[in-house]
Amino acid sequence: MDQEKRSRLNRREFVGAAGAVGVAMFIPAARGVAAERPAILGGTPAQRGTFPDWPQVKESDIEAIRKVTSSGQWYRAVYVPQFEEEYARLNQAKYCVATASGTTALYCSLGALGIGPGDEVIVPPYTFMATVTVVLQHYALPVFVDSDRETFLMDPTKLEAAITDRTAAIIPVHIGGNVCDMDRILAIAQKHNIPVIGDACQAHLAEWRGRSVGSWGTTGCYSFQLSKNLCSGEGGAILTNDEEMADKCYAFHNCARKRNPASRFVYRLGRNTNARMTEFQAAILLSQMAGIKERADIRTANADYLTSMLREIPGIYPARMYEGCTRNAYHLYMFRFVSEEFGGLSRSQFLRALRAEGVPVAAGYSPLNKDQFLLDALNSRGYIRVYGKETIAAWPERNQCPENDKLCAEGIWMAQNVLLGSREQMEQIAKAVAKIRAHAGEIAKA
Ligand SMILES: *Cc1c(COP(=O)(O)O)cnc(C)c1O
Repeated sequence: MDQEKRSRLNRREFVGAAGAVGVAMFIPAARGVAAERPAILGGTPAQRGTFPDWPQVKESDIEAIRKVTSSGQWYRAVYVPQFEEEYARLNQAKYCVATASGTTALYCSLGALGIGPGDEVIVPPYTFMATVTVVLQHYALPVFVDSDRETFLMDPTKLEAAITDRTAAIIPVHIGGNVCDMDRILAIAQKHNIPVIGDACQAHLAEWRGRSVGSWGTTGCYSFQLSKNLCSGEGGAILTNDEEMADKCYAFHNCARKRNPASRFVYRLGRNTNARMTEFQAAILLSQMAGIKERADIRTANADYLTSMLREIPGIYPARMYEGCTRNAYHLYMFRFVSEEFGGLSRSQFLRALRAEGVPVAAGYSPLNKDQFLLDALNSRGYIRVYGKETIAAWPERNQCPENDKLCAEGIWMAQNVLLGSREQMEQIAKAVAKIRAHAGEIAKA
């Protein structure tokens, strides 16, 4: 149990911290849970309703697609530039380049920086694989910085030690919509003159010190894949306040074309691609953007309420936020489950028991720095030629992330649409957890 939780419990004379009696003091909905059977042992599920569907399809989405289809203008024309303008404004950024996906937004940002073989790019291990595959696609060497288990984010105290004279970019990932410590990361990056490419693919509307995460650093990259808090099936965007970077990203994503005729910068490198967004995607995004702030507010209110209940349950640790995080996007509701504080119930038993209660939960990421796809890429012919056998052989040892290994064993998520549910459903989730804890020994043996 961490220090803060222990002192809070002591303060409130939390008698019977190991049982359901104490928990009920803080979770009205959990009153009497010791007497109730968990659903996995044949009891009644704590949560019997359904959570809101995702995506939320509206009549205006259908109308938007009808308009684009009948216009015959399916290539970047009206809606893509309009979306770029509105998305930049929504995030207090000067420029936006819409892309085909979040992966290509990251890939083009690195391409615009000229990152290539021999360069090192710093990444966190607790993220979706695309954060790292884009580094591999440029034949750069990924260098992992361990996670801060309390926040699920890159540990800023371990960043500087990972920097070498080859470091060409840092990619902090605002996982689950929780915001990295941008003060510390940007200070270290500036000291060493290294660009920061923010992976905000899960962090729509998230803010650091009152400003959108996408407006900090060199670029901020977003995804509009179906599961994301703003979506069009597939899609992405790069935000930046740097005009030259906007021109370079645009050229990289659009076959070396100029962003606008007045652009200062002409991109002459042959290394560019087609990662354009279609008019169909942009039209859906403009329609889906209506109500985005209201939905974010609902997620925040529900997440805050859920945290106020779950953090009182021993063994459950909702992801903490850094002091400068003024808005968490809550793409995921993330918490750690510590088996030893939960009567020895394993995480997979806990997940099964929660699902039986009608709560949709998933185990989080597994250690990306140890993933076979990455080791295969690094041991490929091209990588061995560029970096040499010795560097590649030493790579696994250099990229150990022991805190992240623990985090991956403890992490649990709920998806953002759960947080669009009712306040009562949040109470039912907390009640389900309390009920399972009260009967943990029995469930572990079942
Ligand atoms: C979704 C996601 C991506 C990739 O975005 P796509 O649009 O699926 O290509 C990259 N990084 C993170 C953290 C993501 O969640």
